[in-house]
Amino acid sequence: MKGIVTRTVGGFFFPADKEQNIYRTGIRGRINKRIYPGDYVEFKNGIIEKLYPRNNLLIRPQVANIDQILIILSTDNPPYHLRNLDRFLIVSEKAGLNPLIIINKIDLVENLEILQKDFQVYEKAGYRVYYISVKGRNGLEKLCKELQGHINVLTGPSGAGKSSLLNSIIRGAKLQVGEISKKLKRGVHTTKHVQLLPLDNEGWVADTPGFNSLDISHISPNELSFFYPEFWDYHNKCKFRACSHTHEPGCAVKKAFKKGIISERRYNNYCNFYNELQGE
Ligand code: GDP
Ligand code: ZN
Repeated sequence: MKGIVTRTVGGFFFPADKEQNIYRTGIRGRINKRIYPGDYVEFKNGIIEKLYPRNNLLIRPQVANIDQILIILSTDNPPYHLRNLDRFLIVSEKAGLNPLIIINKIDLVENLEILQKDFQVYEKAGYRVYYISVKGRNGLEKLCKELQGHINVLTGPSGAGKSSLLNSIIRGAKLQVGEISKKLKRGVHTTKHVQLLPLDNEGWVADTPGFNSLDISHISPNELSFFYPEFWDYHNKCKFRACSHTHEPGCAVKKAFKKGIISERRYNNYCNFYNELQGE
């Protein structure tokens, strides 16, 4: 039977079948690779017989085959910072994850349209943005549809509502609330015991947030522009092949920003990050 490993504990593995029934299994000696939550395996009579090749492995937390990252920000308490959102997007893009931007606590804003203006730039760049209130149970259904069939991981600043969201979207959450909240709060220290939790229908979410640090120093300045999807149409059209898009003449990215096609704030942030990476 094919399954996805939901957690590993002391030599035991807990794969789930398509219906999300979870089994306890051991492993055949000849599989000498480490198995992580998120790995697809073939198992029979309580034994894992085969490990399927994985698409990726996230280091923090250690989960395989993650294909979607939910970046959760809140309208207030704490208020969001777009510069930090840009950092979250850069680390997500670098890790090859598909980011989804979630703005929580819309119950705290009077005018949703004004709020939405801040994120239009991101939608234009191709990112999906969801406005929700976990407390008011607003927007959750639409969001949940996007999570189905994926292996998701949450990220975002502390206090944005990650534990609250998790508790409202996972199946059988009521039993696990305290445990999950504790885990999410402990963050980094739980990397060893990450667990995949079942969403309604097909789909999983890791119970530990990804990227506790917004450090981007592992990114080389030359690849930074690839992590800005709105630059993609332009960065091959610059006069110089090795254009950094910061100061060179004949830069197509800069031209697009001057024409108002690329957001000034995003472009300036790009230049700041580029200089930050150059300096290291
Ligand atoms: P985390 O640190 O990202 O896991 O955030 P939590 O889930 O612990 O939430 C932080 C605080 O925000 C808690 O006091 C929650 O009750 C509160 N909170 C979460 N979602 C909402 C929401 O939609 N609206 C409001 N007003 N508060 C919320
Ligand atoms: Zn350029």
